[in-house]
Formats: sequence, structure tokens, C-alpha cells
Amino acid sequence: MDDDTHISKLKEETARFARERDWEKFHNPKDLSMALAVEASELMDLYLWDREPNRDALEDELGDVLHFLLEMSNATGIDLSEAFWKKQKKNEGKYPADLVRGRADKYTTYKHNQEGK
Ligand SMILES: [Mg+2]
Repeated sequence: MDDDTHISKLKEETARFARERDWEKFHNPKDLSMALAVEASELMDLYLWDREPNRDALEDELGDVLHFLLEMSNATGIDLSEAFWKKQKKNEGKYPADLVRGRADKYTTYKHNQEGK
């Protein structure tokens, strides 16, 4: 389904959902960012204490995270695809594959090491 679903259609669906419930008045960037963080926390909660989440619960929380990410995009007018590719380009520079392959250190560690050479 991911292969034939456009992000714009999902954004339209989240907007429709909020509009039909007269919830747009609550969906400002500050509160949506909090809702997104809450849903991300619910996702983490599934794994807390080494629990193994069932697939339905995992799908629910991923859906919630995506829902609020899409709503955040609607509220701010930020194009998610453009933001993704822009950040991806930055990450390519921060984490050159030849330098970081197999390592999990923060990029500042690599930068420090590069400057020391
Ligand atoms: Mg949830």
C-alpha cells in the first residue's frame, strides 16, 4: 500500500478527519508537536522493559505518529518530501558512509576526529 499511496492523500485525509470534528481550532503547531511526542512515547512504551509488542499495537502507534506528523505538516505548510530530502542531504554530509560504517557514534565525534587529522 505504501507503494501506491501519496503523502498528499494522507495529508488530505488527516485534514478531513480534523475538519469533520471541528478540531482544526486545536491543531496548532505547538499542540501538534506535543501530540506527536506523546504518540512517539506510546510507541516507545510498547518496548519498555524489553517487552515484545504485538503487531496490532505497533501498527496503531506508527499510525498515530504518522497521523500527527501529517497534521504538523498541514499546520505549518511544510512539504514533508522536500523536508525529508533536504535533511537526507544534510545527513549524508554529517555521516559519510565510508567514515561511519558500522559505528553508532554521534556525528560530532566523527567531525572532531576528522578535524584532528
Ligand atoms: Mg497512540
